[in-house]
Amino acid sequence: MEMDVAATVAEWIRQSNRIVVLTGEELSSESGLPDLSGPSLNPNIRDFRENKEVRAKYWKRIKEVYPSIINAEPSPSHQALAELEMIGGLDCIFTQTTDGLHHKAGSSSVIELNSSILWVNCTSCGKDYSLNEILSMIEKGEDVPKCTECGGDQLKPPISFPGQPPPHWEAREAWIRLHKADLFIIVGASLEHEPVASYPYLARERNIKVVIISENQSPADDHVDAMIYGKPSQVLTYIVSKVKEGITIT
Ligand SMILES: [Zn+2]
Repeated sequence: MEMDVAATVAEWIRQSNRIVVLTGEELSSESGLPDLSGPSLNPNIRDFRENKEVRAKYWKRIKEVYPSIINAEPSPSHQALAELEMIGGLDCIFTQTTDGLHHKAGSSSVIELNSSILWVNCTSCGKDYSLNEILSMIEKGEDVPKCTECGGDQLKPPISFPGQPPPHWEAREAWIRLHKADLFIIVGASLEHEPVASYPYLARERNIKVVIISENQSPADDHVDAMIYGKPSQVLTYIVSKVKEGITIT
């Protein structure tokens, strides 16, 4: 980590009134979660709808990862961002993660761009379930859970599987918040796919400062105001401690 760059970012945070943060998979893995964005948990939507075996395989995998999702604790990154919200200046976090850990850390303004894996919706009648309810149906021996309202077995979390458009409201809301921001910090996120891939460029066009913090390289790295390669937890903890140093309590 480049400490002087991190200290500069802390200074920018102190001067900003509307900070928007985008987070992604690197934060989930810091909390010890398996990759929830991989193909075993994201089957093609058409296969999922048409093939009961694909659904059975999906729910079997959910059953395997459920304990790690439910028992996961927020990482120092999640905690640093929750703290930043309390200090002031943070408008919202939009996240590519689906594990609910920002909420668990105490952040209140969170937009889940890919929705959440923690609840399940019947795509036939619309009834909602907690993932926990669905798991108990599976525990009772059902390979594919059935809706108690309509009897259908087309239940799934509201996350988008390949072949489905991303959740619309969330993308629109993120877009609006980003337009109003004065500092955009991207932490441990993937900038491979649209619409998120365009966010750093959109922000730069509007003279919004852009910072990327990640262990990995991205196509936008050379086009932002500051790039810090490192573990999000280490970098964010350091930055937030610097932000606090500069605040005089009156
Ligand atoms: Zn139903």
